[in-house]
Amino acid sequence: MGKKSYDVIVIGAGMGGSSCAALLAKRGLKVLLVEKNDRAGGKALSLSKKGFAFTAWVVVAAPILDNKFEEVLREIGMEDRVNLISGVKSDSIYISPSGEYKRLPYMEPGALDPEIIFDWLELKGEERDTAMNILTEISIMPPEDIDKLNDISFDEWILSRNPPRPLYAFIVSLMCDLMFMTSVDAVVAAEAVFGLQNLFLKSGGLFCEGGYGALAEVYCDAVRENGSRVIMKAKTEKITIENGQVTGIVTDKGAFKAPVVISNAGIQPTVLKLVGEEHFSNSYTNYVKDLLPSNGMIGMRYYLDKKVIESGYGVIFSDDTPWNMERFIKAKNNTIPRKGVIFFEVPDMYDPKAAPEGKQIVMTGYWCPADPNMTKTEKKKWIDMGEETMLKAFPEIADHIESKEMYSSTQVSRLTRDQVLPGQGGECIGLGQVLGQCWKDKPSVKAPIQGLFYVGCDAGGTGVGTQQAVDSGIKVTNQVLRYHRMHAASP
Ligand SMILES: Cc1cc2nc3c(=O)[nH]c(=O)nc-3n(C[C@H](O)[C@H](O)[C@H](O)COP(=O)(O)OP(=O)(O)OC[C@H]3O[C@@H](n4cnc5c(N)ncnc54)[C@H](O)[C@@H]3O)c2cc1C
Repeated sequence: MGKKSYDVIVIGAGMGGSSCAALLAKRGLKVLLVEKNDRAGGKALSLSKKGFAFTAWVVVAAPILDNKFEEVLREIGMEDRVNLISGVKSDSIYISPSGEYKRLPYMEPGALDPEIIFDWLELKGEERDTAMNILTEISIMPPEDIDKLNDISFDEWILSRNPPRPLYAFIVSLMCDLMFMTSVDAVVAAEAVFGLQNLFLKSGGLFCEGGYGALAEVYCDAVRENGSRVIMKAKTEKITIENGQVTGIVTDKGAFKAPVVISNAGIQPTVLKLVGEEHFSNSYTNYVKDLLPSNGMIGMRYYLDKKVIESGYGVIFSDDTPWNMERFIKAKNNTIPRKGVIFFEVPDMYDPKAAPEGKQIVMTGYWCPADPNMTKTEKKKWIDMGEETMLKAFPEIADHIESKEMYSSTQVSRLTRDQVLPGQGGECIGLGQVLGQCWKDKPSVKAPIQGLFYVGCDAGGTGVGTQQAVDSGIKVTNQVLRYHRMHAASP
């Protein structure tokens, strides 16, 4: 099947793999990009069903200004091929201690007024001063001070400022519970403060017409149009190694050769399955096995016969919903209710082609374990909790459901990452952005095998999900290009 030898092979056309392959092809390398699915996008791929077209689950990107998606589009000269959408109306709902579902009054996107937020969160006197100090400190913290927060959790950092509980719940819901999908007492404070600063100063709520898969497809087009090659529906079964050097890959569509392989398949599946433990030292294998995934997301897609919700996305939370490790363990063990933050997205409110005329698709998302093998009973417990809260916030949904379907860590794993360790595979983000494996301690993008690199959320990037993956794509491109040139130049 055509040419079998390349400068670089990229395994996986997720946001990380497709952006990296696009940039490498644009910069002149002969690239082969192989993807097991029939479309690009990985954890942010697009689906089309019954006349609806959307990102497969709740995916809200940030920041809007200086985002990495456009940085790549500019370099490949394809800004006009995809429509990134900002300025979408959002809806934040605070369930007050008295049980009232309180909506944050409308503010122009990007023009958040702290006083309005403090009123909404029912903050009083001194609490408002404390809240303002915390928001200011996050907004103006210089990079060198953020860097110093590598070894403490965001929980330790924020609790030392005595935040009023509703403000704590609001910030943790947005940042740790949605953007990182990892417990607040495990998330690295540096990563959380950096993310919040970006959100405050560069705004959040960026979407893609046709779903985020459309963006990854454009990156794939850049590979093809720069003389390189993309093969869809080709699952890599093995990365081949000879004398400690990568030589290529074996897929279900044949074998291909390259001195450099970049894997977007996840560090754990790459090391433990595609390469094999026998090619690494025990200490590296143990290090890789010890890395922790982010949590998973479970939710519903509601196909409605009427437009019921008027905002494009939102969050529903209360003082009791922020997750920490203890609460999550207890929830998994059924000793407390599985009460957590709810996220929702309504793609037809920002993309007219997302739903047939007059209809609506509403997607919800909330935490669940990353384990793709969760039982039906387990899934139902997580789903029921979320559905109950969602229908209390938007009771009209119940009268207009034409059909509904659930998604969970099982589908996420099937479409993206193989399970190679217990409890792993259906993670929402990739590796968790937790202490000891993030910020300065993020795994190196270079594996201890000649010519083997990782790209995507597991290595090389910072930020929130999709941004982190593309940030990694950009950084890995630079490293691989240097590696390629140095080897070509050496005698
Ligand atoms: C339910 C859910 C909600 C999310 N919400 C948000 C959000 O609100 N905001 C946000 O920014 N991010 C969100 N994310 C996270 C974000 O989508 C991911 O972090 C990001 O897209 C990961 O990109 P990646 O390149 O690291 O890897 P992936 O997306 O996992 O891509 C890996 C690719 O490699 C392919 N692959 C794997 N193994 C092989 C193989 N053996 N052979 C060939 N191909 C292979 C896969 O099919 C996939 O296409 C969400 C994710 C999920 C699942």
